[in-house]
Amino acid sequence: MRPDSPAAGRHAPIDLTPAQFREAGHALVDRIAGLLATMRDRPVTGGLPVNEVRALLAPFGDMPSEGTDARTIIDEAAELLVAHSLYNGHPRFLGYITASPAPIGMLADLLAAAVNPNVGAWTLSPVASEIEAQTVRWIAELLGYPAGCSGLLVSGGNQANFVGLYSAIRARFPRDEPEGRAERMARATVYASSETHTWIEKALDMFGLPPGALRSIGVDADRRLVLEELERRLVEDRRAGFIPVAVVGTAGTVSTGAVDPLPAMAALCRAHGVWFHVDGAYGGFAAMLDEGVGVSADLRGLQLADSVAVDPHKWLYAPLEAGCALVRDPALHRAAFSYHPPYYHFGVEATNFVDLGPQNSRGFRALKVWMALRQVGRAGYRQMLGDDVALARALYDRLGGDDRFEVATHSLSITTFRYVPEEYRGRAGERDAEEALNALNRALQGRLETSGELFVSNAVVNGRYLLRACIVNFRTLADDIAAIPEIVARHGEAVHAELLARATS
Ligand SMILES: *Cc1c(COP(=O)(O)O)cnc(C)c1O
Repeated sequence: MRPDSPAAGRHAPIDLTPAQFREAGHALVDRIAGLLATMRDRPVTGGLPVNEVRALLAPFGDMPSEGTDARTIIDEAAELLVAHSLYNGHPRFLGYITASPAPIGMLADLLAAAVNPNVGAWTLSPVASEIEAQTVRWIAELLGYPAGCSGLLVSGGNQANFVGLYSAIRARFPRDEPEGRAERMARATVYASSETHTWIEKALDMFGLPPGALRSIGVDADRRLVLEELERRLVEDRRAGFIPVAVVGTAGTVSTGAVDPLPAMAALCRAHGVWFHVDGAYGGFAAMLDEGVGVSADLRGLQLADSVAVDPHKWLYAPLEAGCALVRDPALHRAAFSYHPPYYHFGVEATNFVDLGPQNSRGFRALKVWMALRQVGRAGYRQMLGDDVALARALYDRLGGDDRFEVATHSLSITTFRYVPEEYRGRAGERDAEEALNALNRALQGRLETSGELFVSNAVVNGRYLLRACIVNFRTLADDIAAIPEIVARHGEAVHAELLARATS
């Protein structure tokens, strides 16, 4: 053996001694605790433009040829991220549907990475696999979905929806079907409202369904799928020789939080022998709330679905990433994703999650969800989700009683509205007023986004560009909601003046 052989006292440059790890880790945890303590006093975002953010990395130059001390790197990375991030954990972050992350989830991710189980196979992750199975069961119980279902954690809502819809397609067109599968798949159709999230287009394209397979069904004034139109399309398509595979209902649309008539859709699917999938990425967890809280009773209809997608990184406040797919019939779920190549020798009596989804090696996403479910329980979640809904309602009421604003929608924890300067009040529907208000509110949203005072996103409803506050944030307080009209009106007035000046110059 050569004296410099690795076997003779190897020291890998990537390793840390336990003492170094302890020191760096404690320092990092202290910094994170400091961030949490000061979050409210910081701007929601630094609002720097792209070139300035990119320039922050210039000092690190080209790919380093030599290494740097770990403690220095951790300090520098923490500095960079703390100083220049958008904080979705900030009480005034109300944009898109991204949650404030639960602190216990931050620690869970550290623990998960430290043990690093590969939750693709039970053998490689005995306790972790059982924790994931229990997490899936708990999520089903929380939703009132049959606990005997199958399911797994995935990266987010898109992936969870893919798993559900792919299971539907494979149930109708089994992989081992001998002849004519391609011809039959060419006649497949899938039904979803025009408000459905774009995952559906990605999914159908990736799954090889023909262009036009997606039947986009209209929505009513509340942005809910029109049942009669769905029924008519199903009947017509079947008569014309198409093969309806699945109907997708949404439990909380991404724009306005609308809940489709899920129980009636489930009944229709049963009558037509079509798979019913529910996209509950945003609103699914609100099924745990009482109707008295002001959420649609139709949410419970997800309990009747053949598959459901929910997103723990939204309304369970898990740090990114964590989605969850549930499939009512475990055999159909497994049939969609299970392969048995000669190089795997995994037992069959336990769950090998590789058999239930597209991933092979899998991280331990379930831990942060399991820990949070244990920390607050059903009661804690009901309280927090109920508070989010109540705050969105309070915002709707407050803006509705203020001349400077026009409210458009409130559903679940989403409220949409627009700023209306005096000269456009009472002129809704007039073409030039609508155009001016769209331009103004679009510019206003951009201004708010970089202001650091408040972060809202947008929705377009009936051609109107609206500001959209979505509260999936256990840190938002009544005072934060009360502050919104002044913040928006102040920036709105400024943007309006600028647009006028530009138009007349
Ligand atoms: C957020 C969302 C998705 C996508 O989920 P990701 O976690 O972003 O992948 C799909 N559908 C709805 C209704 C959503 O709100």
